[in-house]
Amino acid sequence: MKKTIAVVPGDGIGPEVMQEAVKVIDAVAEKFGHQFDLVYALAGGSAYDKFGSHLPDETLSICEKGDAILFGSVGGPVSEMQLPKWKDCERNSILTLRKHFSFAVNLRPSRVYPQLQSLSPLKPDLVAKGIDLLIVRELVGDAYFGVHKRDVADGERYATDEAKYTESQVKVAVHAAFECARKRRGKLTSVDKANVLTTSKLWREVAEEVAAEYPDVEYENMLVDNCAMQLIRDPSQFDVIVTSNMFGDILSDAAAVLPGSLGLAASASLNKDNFGLYEPPGGSAQDIAGQGVANPIAQILSAAMLLKYSFGLEAESKAIEDAVEASLAEGYRTGEIYSGEAFEKRVNTKQMTEAILRNLEKDPISVCNEKVSVPK
Ligand code: NAD
Repeated sequence: MKKTIAVVPGDGIGPEVMQEAVKVIDAVAEKFGHQFDLVYALAGGSAYDKFGSHLPDETLSICEKGDAILFGSVGGPVSEMQLPKWKDCERNSILTLRKHFSFAVNLRPSRVYPQLQSLSPLKPDLVAKGIDLLIVRELVGDAYFGVHKRDVADGERYATDEAKYTESQVKVAVHAAFECARKRRGKLTSVDKANVLTTSKLWREVAEEVAAEYPDVEYENMLVDNCAMQLIRDPSQFDVIVTSNMFGDILSDAAAVLPGSLGLAASASLNKDNFGLYEPPGGSAQDIAGQGVANPIAQILSAAMLLKYSFGLEAESKAIEDAVEASLAEGYRTGEIYSGEAFEKRVNTKQMTEAILRNLEKDPISVCNEKVSVPK
């Protein structure tokens, strides 16, 4: 397969972890006989330094010409947010990209690795049941895009945010979620507040109509308040969750803390033509930038999602995921996931990637065998 990937490293740890993800992409290309042409572009503060803009036209054009976008992270130190270089940096770059490409759904996997059980804030018996879920969040509807109004009436300030959903917005998200469930364990939970909200009543009606087209996928509805509780009480019950923009925003952040580190999380944003942007949901981590200690796994797993969802390369994507898991099983830990256990090897960004690359080189059977010998 021959594909072009637009690579946008961004700021802070973005370029550090991106160069590691690129090594993994190159290794996959060689192992599986593909050609991935990587075209680099600037965004965020690094783009502002050169072009005076957080998202130059050149970057948009490179992204448009690519078959998919691999994005790092943008943004400056929280204490410098008011400087022109950083002010509105995230909104001007990543949010503009999302709008430009009409990304309609966001995919956020949340998986607790058996090797890192102790990092999860959940009790060990809950984690032992296996936590591996995917939240599909609708991205272009809901209160975020309705009319926002603020006024004064009867001497009192008041504010309203209009929430709106169209049938087709719901359909796009729910179809995407069913397709994901088919590729995973075949279960979909649609989350709404249909006991109160009109938008949720429409959501449930449309989701149930779409469900009739996927008889092979187990389907259920769940109210959002119950879902929030179940995510903490027993997340092992979930495979894929699909929900509206605001509920997805909140639930996906709750699910993101289950694995114990932002350095392990990946995400994808897809439009209805399946064009996608892949990025770690964490930020530019300015507190550790430039030290070479960031965890590259989030960026590497974002690349694995790109291969799976934009290029349909499931075996290649799985090979990366398995190599990450095998490296964790061997005890490799970057600083933020190191707990000081005797079997752990504390490593920096490059050394973690080297372990992943070594495991990627091995044949699938030996990687699989290593997964069984998880240190307790
Ligand atoms: P952050 O997500 O950058 O960092 C939060 C914490 O997680 C930090 O302690 C950081 O060191 C740690 N962390 C994040 N990724 C890590 C990794 N790969 N390895 C190890 N540790 C990791 O959030 P913040 O510090 O609040 O924000 C920093 C900047 O990032 C801000 O300018 C913010 O606006 C921006 N931001 C950008 C995005 C994006 O690009 N999509 C998302 C969130 C925040």
